[in-house]
Amino acid sequence: MNNGNIMLENYVTYLEFLDEKFQKFFAKQKPYIFCQKGCAKCCKNAQFPYSSIETAYLLYGFMKLDAGIQEEVDKNIKQVLEDKKIFKGEKFRYNCPFLINNVCCVYEYRGLVCRSFGLMTNDINGKVQVPFCCFDGLNYSNVMDDEGKHVSREKFDKLGVEEEPTAFNVSYQFLTDPDFERGFNFVFGDKKPLIEWFIKPENETAY
Ligand code: SF4
Ligand code: SF4
Repeated sequence: MNNGNIMLENYVTYLEFLDEKFQKFFAKQKPYIFCQKGCAKCCKNAQFPYSSIETAYLLYGFMKLDAGIQEEVDKNIKQVLEDKKIFKGEKFRYNCPFLINNVCCVYEYRGLVCRSFGLMTNDINGKVQVPFCCFDGLNYSNVMDDEGKHVSREKFDKLGVEEEPTAFNVSYQFLTDPDFERGFNFVFGDKKPLIEWFIKPENETAY
């Protein structure tokens, strides 16, 4: 077994460790979570930070897809890269090319930001943030004030649930902390927006 495979296996062990935590967090926040299959707002119009190892695992999942789906993803990647070429602003946002018919075609292999999104977060500086879909009437919208900045006591009391809305330290920065690399024996490698992993110097797709 080569070193790359061992690293990927160790990364998968880290994912299993994280998924167990995320399952508990999402279960605790159930009264405030409206995620469901087909709701793909968080897979659109974003940058999607991905490290090298996350991308390798995503592509490992991609290789298992039917040829037809692979072609669709490939077409999406090419289109996003074309759009990126003519984009003039600062932060290029795009729909994830792995989103097919509003469903993630590599769900089991998705990256860290895809696994944690939907929870209220608490970054390493203590800044609390609700997911943007709160403002679309989704996660935490039933308990936050209209500005999404504070929990509304009135809404919370009205819900009559025991579990309080809680912010978790699941920022991308935290999830990719070097301590996890040391603890699980793998390296994240470079980090950049997902689409940029598909740019070759000649501007061809990378696979
Ligand atoms: S996090 Fe928000 S946008 Fe994403 S699936 Fe859940 S409800 Fe939909
Ligand atoms: S990899 Fe899957 S879950 Fe992540 S943004 Fe793309 S479609 Fe959504």
